[in-house]
Amino acid sequence: MIESKKHTDNADSGADQGIEPSVRAKALQQDEPGSAEAGKFLKISETYSTLQGEGSHSGLPCYFIRLAVCDIRCSWCDTPDSWTGGQWNSLEEIMEDVPEHIGLVQITGGEPLLQIKRLSILMHRLHEMGKKILLETGGHRSLESVPAFVHIVMDIKLPSSGETAHDFASNLSYLKPDDEIKFVIADETDFQAALGWIQRYDLTRRFQVLISPLAGLDLKKLAQWVLDSKLTMRLQLQLHKYIWGPDARMV
Ligand code: SF4
Repeated sequence: MIESKKHTDNADSGADQGIEPSVRAKALQQDEPGSAEAGKFLKISETYSTLQGEGSHSGLPCYFIRLAVCDIRCSWCDTPDSWTGGQWNSLEEIMEDVPEHIGLVQITGGEPLLQIKRLSILMHRLHEMGKKILLETGGHRSLESVPAFVHIVMDIKLPSSGETAHDFASNLSYLKPDDEIKFVIADETDFQAALGWIQRYDLTRRFQVLISPLAGLDLKKLAQWVLDSKLTMRLQLQLHKYIWGPDARMV
């Protein structure tokens, strides 16, 4: 980790389990800057520089901008701090903190697409600076407004997440061949469900497919399942957890 900045100073931080998603999404509106300038603010959970730990850019220095608020609750979510809370930052403040020497910027969450209108402005500015932009999304919100220059990493949620009842399929038409679909695998049931998605939508021919195991899953078994499938997909291990430990944050 090179540098970090945590943004947690407002009233809606803290647990909100049991609250309806539509109510949770209002966390973005409750304390929104009320002036005509509101469109120039994003609600940020944390920012930090580290090595990208996942996907096709794994191992590269990367600046992370984690947006606050998520409207779903994956059972294995490793960033519950980002479900609520955060702090409104102006686009200028965000841009000032982006390191010049790091070419890769990951926008993650929380669910970044909850703030897509403002986020789109930020992504255009980063693009004009020459940054490569990765957008990580839970896949349950429409990708329609994401600029074409953004590299998308989209989850399709499997049974262990408890969040399968969303229209992930409608987002497939917005993905480009280099974009990545990530399946988080807790067990064989999840892996079989991933195979179902891949076969139904021909995903490994159309996109890059990531298989990402949860802690505790037998990696040799998972590797064998991948090989037995005869499909071209990438088994990925989260590099940052091997370097800094499974519980380290902002790395
Ligand atoms: S979509 Fe992401 S941030 Fe939201 S609960 Fe799932 S893993 Fe956590």
